[in-house]
This record gives sequence, C-alpha cells and structure tokens, in this order.
Amino acid sequence: MSSAFENLRRDFGGDIIEPGAAEYEAASRSVLAFGTPTYVLRPTSVADVRAAVAFTADIGLPLSVRGGGHAFQGFSTNDGGVVIDLGQLADILIVDKDRHLVRIGGGATWGQVTAALAPHGLAISSGDTRSVGVGGLTLSGGIGWKVRKYGLALDNLVAAEVVTADGDVVRASADENPELFWALRGGGGNFGIVTAFEFVAHPTTDVFFGKVRFPAAEASTVLQGWAEYFRTAPEELTSIAALANPFAGGHEAPVEIHVAFDGDDAVLAAQAIDPIRRLGTVIDDDIALKPYADILVDGMIPPPGIKLVTRNAFADKESVPDVLRILTEIATSERSPVIAIRSIGGAVSRVADDATAYAHRQAELMFAITAIGPEPVIAAGRPGLEAIWTRLAPHVNGAYANFLSTATDEDVAAIYPAETYQRLAAVKRQYDPGNLFALNHNVRPAA
Ligand code: FAD
Repeated sequence: MSSAFENLRRDFGGDIIEPGAAEYEAASRSVLAFGTPTYVLRPTSVADVRAAVAFTADIGLPLSVRGGGHAFQGFSTNDGGVVIDLGQLADILIVDKDRHLVRIGGGATWGQVTAALAPHGLAISSGDTRSVGVGGLTLSGGIGWKVRKYGLALDNLVAAEVVTADGDVVRASADENPELFWALRGGGGNFGIVTAFEFVAHPTTDVFFGKVRFPAAEASTVLQGWAEYFRTAPEELTSIAALANPFAGGHEAPVEIHVAFDGDDAVLAAQAIDPIRRLGTVIDDDIALKPYADILVDGMIPPPGIKLVTRNAFADKESVPDVLRILTEIATSERSPVIAIRSIGGAVSRVADDATAYAHRQAELMFAITAIGPEPVIAAGRPGLEAIWTRLAPHVNGAYANFLSTATDEDVAAIYPAETYQRLAAVKRQYDPGNLFALNHNVRPAA
C-alpha cells in the first residue's frame, strides 16, 4: 500500500469507495455523466476534506469535486482519478436569526436548503431544481425564481469556508481574503473546496407560480411582448419562456411563459401577471398560490445512453429583438432543439460588472438551447446546432458557465471577459498554483 494511501486510511473518517465495491457503480456516476474513477471519497468533516485533498495532491491523479453532481460537462466524475463527493457535508444551520444568516455545508442540495428554511419563512435565491447542488450553482451564478428581486445565488453569499490546494482552511468574505471571496462568486470550483457557504436568506411567503400557454403560431408576438414587458415589470416577477417542448409537441408545442411572483398578495400578483396574459391567445393558465418550496422540481436522471447537450448565451437590450426573432424561427421549424429563455435584469444588473467574477450583469436575457437523445441523434443534430449558433453569433455575447456541456478555451473566454479572467488567474496563482482543481471551466494560474 502506498504511503499516500496509508495516510488517507489514517486521517480520513469517511467512506473510501474503490472499483469492485457494492456501491461503486452508483458512487462513480454523476447525474449527467458516467465515470470510472479510481477512488470515490466521501468526507464527513473538514478534516476529511483536508485529508482527501492531501491524498489527491500526493498521488497526482485528476480530481473531481462533487457537490450536487449536476454539471452538464460531467466535471464531478472522471476516469482513473479521484472524486471527492461532498454529499455528507450537508448541514443547514440558521446561525443568526435576526440577520437571517444561514450556514450551509458544501455538499447540500437546494431541495435540502429550501425544505430546511421553509418552516422559518426564509428562502435563498437559487435555481429551479431541488437536486442541484448549492456548490456548483452558487460558485458560477445561480439564476432561479427569485433572481430579479434578490439577485443571483452568489449575490446572497456573505462568506465561505474553503479548503485550498495545500490543505489550508481559509475563510473568505468582504473582510477576510476579499480577492478569494470575489473569485468564488463566479469563478466556479477553481480555487478550492468550499466546505461551508454562508448566505443571508430573505423572508418568503407563498408565491404565485405557474405557466400561461399560447399557440406556437403566436410565438413571435408573445416573445417580443414578453421581453418588452420585463423592462418595466415588478422585480417580484421572474419568468422563463420555453419553446419547442418535446413533451408537448416539439416544434408545434405551445409557447410556455412560466412565471413566479414573489409574494402572496393576489391583487399585486394579478397586476404583475395580467400583462403577460394579454400577450396573445391564452390556451391555458395554471398560475396558483403555492409554497415556495413546492415550486422547485425534482431533476431527472437521464437513463443510460441518453445525452443532454446544452449551450447558452446572453442577450443585451439592443440585441433582444433579433435574438428572439431567430429563436422563434428555430423553435417553430422541424427538429428544433429545446429552447428556454430566462429573464434576468432587476437586482442582478444593479451589481457592478466587476464586483464579482460573474460579469454579465447587464444582460436582459439568458437563453439555453438543448438537444436531448441517444448519441446518434445528438451527432446527427450537431451541424444543425452549429448553424443555429452561427446565425445567433452576431447578436449574442458571453456564456453562463452553468448551462454549458463543454469546457473549451472558447467557452472559458465567453464566460469570463478578459479583465475578469486575468484577475481570476492571479487569485488562482495564490490559492492553487499547481492547478489541482482543474475539472471545471478552468482558470490557469497566472505566470
Ligand atoms: P457538480 O457537478 O457537483 O459541480 C459543478 C461544479 O462545481 C464542478 O466543477 C464542481 O467541482 C464544483 N463544485 C460543486 N460544489 C463545490 C464545492 N462545494 N466546492 C468547490 N467546488 C464545487 N442553474 C441555474 O443557475 N439555475 C437553475 O435553475 C438550474 N437548473 C438546473 C436544472 C438541472 C436539471 C440541471 C442539470 C442543471 C441546472 N442548473 C441550473 C445548472 C447548475 O447550476 C449546474 O449544473 C451546476 O454546476 C450544478 O451544481 P452541482 O453542485 O449540482 O454540480
């Protein structure tokens, strides 16, 4: 047995899962990717995380850090390397009732957080899916049903506890290691393992939630009116427009405008939502008052062989009409991929572009185009997808790291404007000069 492994056995209190173990198959896969790692380590304490990091650095194998395991790129598993699965670090504690300060373990999921905070009438702006991890979503952004009122998930983060590449435990906040704190808010998993996140939660009531559907033939007017309305709509209202839903008829599927109104006042909610109902011929409308915790959905685990390929971009105010025109044409043509367009703006755009490493603050919309199917179907659709992105290219900018199936240098350049990248590279040099944390949209340490 190598001395590195002996040290791990001595210092690590969690499960060490190797090929051949009963739970290996389940432990080696992430939600969207299959892998064959040499070790899956499940720490149960910060000391375990330190031991796992020291072991991985010692043996020099690739390292995946797994929060909720939902990365589209499959970052949270690998072949032949180590997976540090943070799932056992999922404590959720309200540490200051007056300030609504919540400390959350680095491997918690948003479903766990929402359920734990609901009895206290609190919530944190996050995403739309229970099984998604607090770690991955927050470290790259976090665009969910409260985003226009309370900003990205990372805008609500006030501190983090991080195990760095050399095994140090450091705290990052506005006052402690502020450059690291800046980098953690958008720079992904590049800088270390976050063992605990501290957020300021916000009070929540039940919310009005549901969708209004319009005929596919009205997609153009509905979408243009929708985007126009969101320039002046109350920030309590957040929305996703979904086109070409494969479960509702593909390219002939109705346009679905999903909305969440953050509040339980029926009059205010109707005032906010009615302009959407007037955008076209309503086919159905299922908006109703619901507990916030109930509007998050359970993520689907695709069966073996089914792939999800997704890519996204932002649209600024002046390019919105062109982007929506192109997306409408694509959505209503045969073999359309799935299209989801998220309204942003509001609280997100009131934060300066350089205040965090998430820089695309002025975008009005973020849209993702997703192909789903077995590999031959995905391969056959690839030229079509390329053609779509060529059409969109003159009108869009940037990319949101959390909805990307790839991690090329071009992707990294789209996520991080040059100045942001340089600043991140300097932080990387300080906290991870050997690039141990490389399975992510990788920032290389500055020379
Ligand atoms: P993982 O695969 O575990 O991690 C993703 C990345 O973060 C990896 O590089 C990992 O190493 C790193 N990481 C995770 N935890 C830590 C940690 N504690 N410390 C250091 N590094 C860490 N995004 C949105 O913004 N809004 C949504 O509504 C939304 N809905 C989604 C629904 C589904 C079904 C899916 C599949 C994705 C969705 N996403 C959404 C995208 C999601 O934010 C990303 O996939 C995100 O990376 C998932 O985080 P995770 O922790 O679950 O994934």
